[in-house]
Formats: sequence, structure tokens, C-alpha cells
Amino acid sequence: MTAEFDALLTRIRHCQTCALHLPLAPKPILQADPRATILIAGQAPGRRAHDSGVPFDDASGDRLRSWLGVDRAAFYDPARFAIVPMGFCYPGKAGGGDAPPRPECAEQWHSTLLEALPNIHLTLVLGRYALAYHLPQYRRSTVTEAVRHWEEVWPRYLPLPHPSPRNQAWFKRNTWFETELLPKLRIRVDQLKPT
Ligand code: SF4
Repeated sequence: MTAEFDALLTRIRHCQTCALHLPLAPKPILQADPRATILIAGQAPGRRAHDSGVPFDDASGDRLRSWLGVDRAAFYDPARFAIVPMGFCYPGKAGGGDAPPRPECAEQWHSTLLEALPNIHLTLVLGRYALAYHLPQYRRSTVTEAVRHWEEVWPRYLPLPHPSPRNQAWFKRNTWFETELLPKLRIRVDQLKPT
């Protein structure tokens, strides 16, 4: 990791921009290294990730790893996967689930951080906030519509449903996702392994 990249991560880790709007003290949760070839662009860490400091250390993460065909060691290798959610800090609750990611985060950090990740060849786009940022042509589409048209942006991007167990009904309704899309994703992830 270069000194500049290290300095950027340190600035992010000390960020207090939305301290007044967060339910807990800011604690940015992300994984990034200039060598990473795959970017996982999600929403924002949940309360469990806030407490542990580890993103996707839950049932959603287990499902995501099985989609990718990788174990935990590979998933948490920053030289392979960058994990950069739309909001780096736990945003609290709203309605029946987590609140949206703080909008200040993408404005303040994303373009600088993404420019510092020059080796990304595949961006996995999870959820509507990441979709609106990374694939703005789908900002008026549902996540399901974007996932159905995945071949339009493949192999540079891949819109995905959230791997949460709460999406079980979606997975049952869309069996093509498992049989047609995931095998291609696993091949691509394998191709992007460091040699
Ligand atoms: S969510 Fe982003 S912008 Fe807001 S305090 Fe955390 S790191 Fe800073």
C-alpha cells in the first residue's frame, strides 16, 4: 500500500463529518487496497458490523461468499476485494430496517477513494443506493429490474440483490439467478484472482 493511500484511509477513519446525524460515534467500516480487483459496493454497515468492525460477518456475508465461490480468507483479503459501502458508518434505524447511508459520505469520499483503486475490474452493486451511484442509468429502476438486465453492464459491473436472508422469497422467485448468473460470477471471480 502506498503512503498516499495509507494517508487517505487514515483520513477516512478519522472522519467526523456526520457525527451529529449518526446514532453512535462515527466508525467507518471499509476494506480497501490499491491491488484489489473486485469492488463490493454495498449500502452501509449494520449494527453488528459497527460493533465488530468487520463487514459482512453475518448470514448475508455467508451468502455473498457462497455467491462468489470464496472462503472468508479470500473475502477478507484486501488485495482481492475492496468493500466500499455508500455510507461507511452505521446510520441507525428507520422504519423496519436500517436507515439509508448518510449522503455526505459518497460526496466526500467516493470519487477520491475509487480513483485510488485503479485495478478494479468488476464492481458488485448491492442495493438501490449503490445502484444509483455506480449505475445511474438504473436509478429509476427497481433492483430486480437492474439484476434482470445484468448482461447490459457485465463484465465491468454486476447489480445484485442484497444477500440478506430476508430476501429468501426473491431468491425462490428468481431461480435463474442461481442457475444462470451465479456460475458466470464465480468464473469471473476466479479469473480475477491474483496470479
Ligand atoms: S458516514 Fe462517511 S462522511 Fe459520515 S462520518 Fe462516517 S465516514 Fe464520515
